[in-house]
Amino acid sequence: MAAFGTVFMPEMAITKFENGEWTSTKNVPSDSIPMHPGAHVLHYSSTCFEGLKAFRHKDGGIYLFRMDQNVKRFQQSSELLKLPAFDAKQVEEMIVNIVRQYADEVPAPPGSMYVRPTHIGTEASIGKAAAPSSSSLLYVLLSPVGDYFAGGAKPLRVLLDETGMRCAPHMGMIKSGGNYASALGPILSAKDDVQADQILFCPNGDVQETGAANFILIDGNEVITKGLDTSFLHGVTRDSILTIASDMGMTVSERDITVDELLERAAKPNVEAALSGTAAVLTPVGTFIYNNKEYTVGSGEAGATTTKLRHALNDIQWGNAEDKHGWLVQV
Ligand code: PMP
Repeated sequence: MAAFGTVFMPEMAITKFENGEWTSTKNVPSDSIPMHPGAHVLHYSSTCFEGLKAFRHKDGGIYLFRMDQNVKRFQQSSELLKLPAFDAKQVEEMIVNIVRQYADEVPAPPGSMYVRPTHIGTEASIGKAAAPSSSSLLYVLLSPVGDYFAGGAKPLRVLLDETGMRCAPHMGMIKSGGNYASALGPILSAKDDVQADQILFCPNGDVQETGAANFILIDGNEVITKGLDTSFLHGVTRDSILTIASDMGMTVSERDITVDELLERAAKPNVEAALSGTAAVLTPVGTFIYNNKEYTVGSGEAGATTTKLRHALNDIQWGNAEDKHGWLVQV
């Protein structure tokens, strides 16, 4: 099976912002875009993107999961990066139409079609180091993906890092390429130095998120995760899991967690920790690594509540449970 995100559908949907307006949407080959080497994005990182999935149901219908939330976050990222504003309706239509075009290629569960809307500043002006791009390209790529849990949901080893930062504190809620590039150094060191699968950024003891997922702690009947602020990405999966947990009668606490509290709670046998994200869904964490010591989280195995929440989310996505919050949009 090809690595996640390396296979693309042959065409993508695209629109351009030029001379103060958006062009109508076109389909173009997805293997190249014309761009000047002086384009704003290539120098000053005016780029943001989104990641959502389309699922195939048993009756053959294809459904996008919480597209409105991803488009809203995409608008917010674009605005905070001073990229041209766009109409949510146009982008939702781009997504629906391109997914419909490739409906036959959407894998059945546990696979899905990963949808990657991307927005980049294209003005050829290297003089605009401190000014926004006046033109941009917005396109929607499709990549069929398989089961992230093919090898079983093996609990992850996660390094708690109190000194590094994933990105600047006011940039975390923006899904922008620069944030991912700036996190690579610490991520690779964590892998090399202590064989960690992921790094959980906890600047000054504040438990935030990993390189590509949010962090959730489960203590008995309580789900605890950092409350929304500008320092981390407001995951759609995080919100969905919190809603499902609350529907199940669990207590949801959105508040700051310190590394001290995390380690104290992790020592209890019924505590679970997990990473949430569109790709990760809900992946259990089995071990924390902190100051060269290892701390087993609860039993160290995939916890029952983590598994139950992941299944409940998948059941909605895959059409096996009632979509009572109206999260699915049929293409
Ligand atoms: N944080 C980061 C840094 C991410 O890249 C992602 C994945 N998009 C998430 C959190 C989870 O967000 P979502 O649940 O919307 O996929």
